Amino acid sequence: MSKNKYLIAANWKQNCDSKSSTKLINDFVKLFNKTKPKCDVLILPPSIYLDTILTRLNKLKVPLKKISLGIQNISPFLNGAYTGEISVDMAKDFKCSYSLIGHSERRHVFMESDKIISAKTKLSLESGMNTILCVGETIAEYNQKQTKEVILRQLKTALLKSKDLFKSDQDKIIIAYEPVWAIGSGKTASLDDIADVHAYIRNTLNKILGTKKNTIKILYGGSVNDLNAASILKIPDVNGALVGGASLNSKKFIDICSSI
Ligand code: PEP
Repeated sequence: MSKNKYLIAANWKQNCDSKSSTKLINDFVKLFNKTKPKCDVLILPPSIYLDTILTRLNKLKVPLKKISLGIQNISPFLNGAYTGEISVDMAKDFKCSYSLIGHSERRHVFMESDKIISAKTKLSLESGMNTILCVGETIAEYNQKQTKEVILRQLKTALLKSKDLFKSDQDKIIIAYEPVWAIGSGKTASLDDIADVHAYIRNTLNKILGTKKNTIKILYGGSVNDLNAASILKIPDVNGALVGGASLNSKKFIDICSSI
């Protein structure tokens, strides 16, 4: 991943089927080739369609450096008797260079604990994946002004054991700040809150690493769309976006990518 570029990631979640995911990637590549956005672009399709998307990207002659592929979730185990799970090595087989860890839906719908997220983060980094760790507070925590406390806990539990795996190559870890209440709700955090929390994450990462500055990318996620992306991406310490709903629309997603 290039150092100075923004990263815009499309999280398709559990959406699309074979036909519609093929159409979505075809439409997006057409717009991508026309627009040539300056950011790094990452697509996180449902794992069962990774092969479909990889095949399309190859057919359309899109280098995976231009549009990278990632997996939305990995098993906390390397391999073995874990029915239904997908290992980080299996994802690499399908040319995934990124993994998404600790998404709010994994934490709150599938009850993934900080401990599980810590294990996944370590495994992902050990395997050489660019690892996106999601953090963020619930609405109750936001109302009780516990945002920073929650984020500190989430960062520390996920990263303290793994910091030596990215200290000298800080591109390997990416933090996505996603207030739980902003995901899929149409409500984004205020620009001031985003600036404040991203600066806090930056400082916390320095403390974890024992450094004075770091170049770790910090993405914002939570109802980012083609209309609000430009103002969010201008905030200092916002180095990109994790986009759910709007990434399912090729025109909206390319507009977000082009808003930098
Ligand atoms: C997400 O899936 O991480 C997300 C931020 O979703 P949305 O953009 O729909 O809020």
